[in-house]
Amino acid sequence: MTQDLFRQDAYQRECSAHITAITEVGIVLDQTVFYPLGGGQAGDSGVLVLADGTQIAIADTRKGKDADGNPTSDIVHIPAPGQEERVAQLAQQAPGTAVTARIDWERRHRMMRLHTTSHLLCHVVPQLVNGCSITPDYARLDFAMTDPLDKESLTTAIAALVAAAHPLTVASISDEELDANPALVKSMSVQPPRGTGRIRTIRIGGEGDAPLIDLQPCGGTHVANTSEIGAIVVTKIEKKSATTRRVVLGFAQ
Ligand SMILES: [Zn+2]
Repeated sequence: MTQDLFRQDAYQRECSAHITAITEVGIVLDQTVFYPLGGGQAGDSGVLVLADGTQIAIADTRKGKDADGNPTSDIVHIPAPGQEERVAQLAQQAPGTAVTARIDWERRHRMMRLHTTSHLLCHVVPQLVNGCSITPDYARLDFAMTDPLDKESLTTAIAALVAAAHPLTVASISDEELDANPALVKSMSVQPPRGTGRIRTIRIGGEGDAPLIDLQPCGGTHVANTSEIGAIVVTKIEKKSATTRRVVLGFAQ
């Protein structure tokens, strides 16, 4: 099992850790700041730094899988091409080898900004989401709807929410509370992170008398305040199917 430090603090860029296993897929640590692909958000890249200062480049991060393909609680750090020899050497020392796990922070922070914007978009377009992808360069959300959407008006609405500097609050609810409030789930494609008894929620606004902008279960990484998002534009709106409108978000040039 890998302790997922990014869920407590999305701003933590590195941590010390120990290798618990090296599999065909990659390197498993006892704890990590690397977010594994999931919930539409891409996996982190970065480096593992060994005690002698040498580095192993990590290209991607995934959840572990058992022999039947079911997800485990391991987080697997996938070495970049060309690292095979280093990893093979490491496999002779592991498990227990100490490393420093350090993410590509600039890349991750772009995903945190775009991911948080996707929550703002759920407020601006209050329709169910049936597909979502968050990358360092763009985010796309597919809404189950037939009405047309307007690029400029969505961009303006998002800019107003960014400028309003709404704080984000991370909390959790029980499975029963979620069952009693099914409207909290805005995505048809991403299941809330159930299974531990508590489901992590992300709230934007809603503190004191402030308006509630968005509240939904989410296991991804977000910024602490919408003001940190910066300038975002809706770069494309597509009619993906008769009942789906795709919105693509990017950073303003
Ligand atoms: Zn989220």
